[in-house]
Amino acid sequence: MKIGFIGLGNMGAPMAANLAKAGHQVTGFDTAAPMPSGVTAADSAQAAAQGAEVVITMLPNGQILRTVADSVIPVMQAGAVLCDCSTVDVDSARAVAGQARAAGLAALDAPVSGGIGGAQNGTLTFMVGGEQTAFDTVEPLLAIMGQKTVHCGDSGAGQSAKICNNMILGVTMIATCEAFALADKLGLDRGKMFDVVSTSSGSSWSMNSYCPAPGIGPNSPADNDYKPGFAAELMLKDLNLSQQAATSADADTPMGQLAQQLYQRFVEDEDGRGRDFSAMLPRFTSRGR
Ligand code: NAD
Repeated sequence: MKIGFIGLGNMGAPMAANLAKAGHQVTGFDTAAPMPSGVTAADSAQAAAQGAEVVITMLPNGQILRTVADSVIPVMQAGAVLCDCSTVDVDSARAVAGQARAAGLAALDAPVSGGIGGAQNGTLTFMVGGEQTAFDTVEPLLAIMGQKTVHCGDSGAGQSAKICNNMILGVTMIATCEAFALADKLGLDRGKMFDVVSTSSGSSWSMNSYCPAPGIGPNSPADNDYKPGFAAELMLKDLNLSQQAATSADADTPMGQLAQQLYQRFVEDEDGRGRDFSAMLPRFTSRGR
């Protein structure tokens, strides 16, 4: 397939390289990052999009996505698909999809989970919103970049699934960390705590697969001095998006709101920036009530 790929940063570069390695003809554009191997450089987003059957974007936020969409939609060929894999606000995803449809194109929001390792190894999970025919066109490409794809519904459904999942993740990580900190102060051994909780009703992905306590459970960023992994500021981005969506949809999400406030404080006022999001544990253990 002829693919335009816009945004070749930490995630986009390995994703585009995997498409090229699979034999697709990939033309890329980024305002700063170098081209990954196998990808032909274009000198603008428009040049990357022209003549492509699918244009994939992997950009920092919804505002930049809207700007890029404004420039590429008018030059894309009729019937082509604009597939945004960035994590952006639901309103921007829906607005861009509407704009593409009005121009005779199809559009998908297809955010990912799995991080940089998943992008490099082609093991991402894609959560997709948009029409079935566009999904059918792009699915073989997603299968190269990832190992699981869920078509969640209409435009915006992919972003909705992503921020709901990550809101749960933020809340359960905080709950797991504060429980470990309480256990410490009660004199409960962390290993015993893990043995009980990981097989009991308090279990979660945060405890069982990504345990925030060093030396306990499976290997995780806690065992590597809390180097990310999934950085606290990326968790904050997703919690901000969940709260923006909750306000826009008039949904009551008090735990998500509190998680957003704690990660904001952690990143902006404490030592959370650049650390894994599970570094909430040393934050809690160093504090009293
Ligand atoms: P990044 O900052 O490394 O990459 C973004 C790229 O977009 C940069 O190379 C930047 O130069 C480029 N860019 C910015 N404006 C542009 C424009 N107008 N035209 C062309 N290129 C432009 O970020 P990333 O880590 O690759 O993340 C990309 C997206 O994926 C984000 O929305 C992020 O939330 C999401 N995401 C990231 C991870 C992760 O672990 N890094 C995991 C899941 C989802």
